[in-house]
Amino acid sequence: MIAPTCRTIVGLAIVLLSHAPALFAADAPRPNIVLIFADDLGYSDLGCFGAKDIHTPNINRLAVEGTRFTSFYVSQPVCTASRASLMTGCYANRVGLAGALNHTSKAGIHADEVLLPELLQQRGYATAIFGKWHLGHRPEFSPLRHGFGEFFGIPYSNDNGPLHPVVKTIPSLPLIDGDKTDELDPDQSQFTRRLTQRACQFLAANKDRPFFLYVPHVMPHVPIFASERFKGRSARGLYGDVVEELDWSVGEIDAALNRLGLAEKTLVIFASDNGPFLSYGEHAGRATPLREGKLTTFEGGVRTPCLMRWPRKIRPGRICDEPVASIDLLPTIAKLVRAPLPKHPIDGLDVWPILSGQSNARTPHESLLFFSGDELQAIRSGDWKLHFAHDYLTVAGPPGQAGKPANFEKMQPKSIEESGIRGIASRHGYEVRRIEQSLFNLKDDLGESCNVADKNPEVVRRLEAMAEQARGDLGDSLSNRRGSGVRVVR
Ligand code: MG
Repeated sequence: MIAPTCRTIVGLAIVLLSHAPALFAADAPRPNIVLIFADDLGYSDLGCFGAKDIHTPNINRLAVEGTRFTSFYVSQPVCTASRASLMTGCYANRVGLAGALNHTSKAGIHADEVLLPELLQQRGYATAIFGKWHLGHRPEFSPLRHGFGEFFGIPYSNDNGPLHPVVKTIPSLPLIDGDKTDELDPDQSQFTRRLTQRACQFLAANKDRPFFLYVPHVMPHVPIFASERFKGRSARGLYGDVVEELDWSVGEIDAALNRLGLAEKTLVIFASDNGPFLSYGEHAGRATPLREGKLTTFEGGVRTPCLMRWPRKIRPGRICDEPVASIDLLPTIAKLVRAPLPKHPIDGLDVWPILSGQSNARTPHESLLFFSGDELQAIRSGDWKLHFAHDYLTVAGPPGQAGKPANFEKMQPKSIEESGIRGIASRHGYEVRRIEQSLFNLKDDLGESCNVADKNPEVVRRLEAMAEQARGDLGDSLSNRRGSGVRVVR
């Protein structure tokens, strides 16, 4: 019995050793990259992440043919900040972006930042974004100026228009094609279909060259819409219908990859930008068993479902619970395509050993940081997560219904410019609560419910010391820089 096991281990080691150099050799084929990013999708809204009332067969297939990452983290639990990190490989406050930009914002991604599409474009990749950009709407911030060859989508969130559930003074939502506004207030029930159509056209047009296709879907961010074909299909109401249409989109993109003979040489990544917008009740997703959702640094806000597939490179059918962060995608992809990293400091690290399933591969980060805007609220190291005392948003009482947030009856129309945690609370029906410094062991307590700080003073001290170092690097009170798009270098 022992001999075959040893042979298997030795054989596996040879395979791993022989694959590792080949993958990064100068003449090794470079993968195409397809990155599909849902908006406000909850941790448990997919069949392969436990949803029983939403059918997601196409996304589930990615879990069968690829790896399911159960500890995938975005850097901040809100749209702009999360996307800034995804695109730059940096904590969002390092690149001076926080919260969610809107039509009044003057800030955006700085010209000096090097975005993932820029790295890939320099390596000869065709690049396109079909969906929500959210890194600045002024001309200088256009995705076409930041590495994307094509853009079709919206500059900020889909509630940033006359369909905002609370604020009624917002001008029309533009749908942009290239650098021109194509339509105003487009039919939102057609977003998923139209973005998918453009994605498939892009694949067909670029099948003979390397490409980076980024599909940051508009849905299921409120206000949610499904097309006629998907309305009434799921057992989770309209929200479920919307997610099932997103699943259809993944199936269409996958079918195009297969039809064009590209699936084998394409790394497909699916994730969400942050957790569910819980104040919207039945129009929001779920993050169970995680605590809270979007806009909080509890797990429900920053841990999102994630799947990756690259045949013969990423192991099929595997579940990986090792932490992987969205900031790690840029340096990891850069390594795969043999692109040099930006010259300025970035925060993400190469996690290819984890993605490819190398035995005992561990996160290269000593800790992961969770900022809300410019405030360091929590830090994770190993299984430990330490929350520093901070205010957070929660839904008190019944959540919203029919597309309205909690407490809607009591709300006065609010301005979208009102910033800070109380502005968000008043605009979206949340209550502000405070958590005192608390230590959780995520291995035993994924729901962050049992503070074990008193029993583990040495762990608290260790994490506090790491946080102090991080504050020295990234700061912890950048209110004068907030949203400025200016890089923090210390
Ligand atoms: Mg979002």
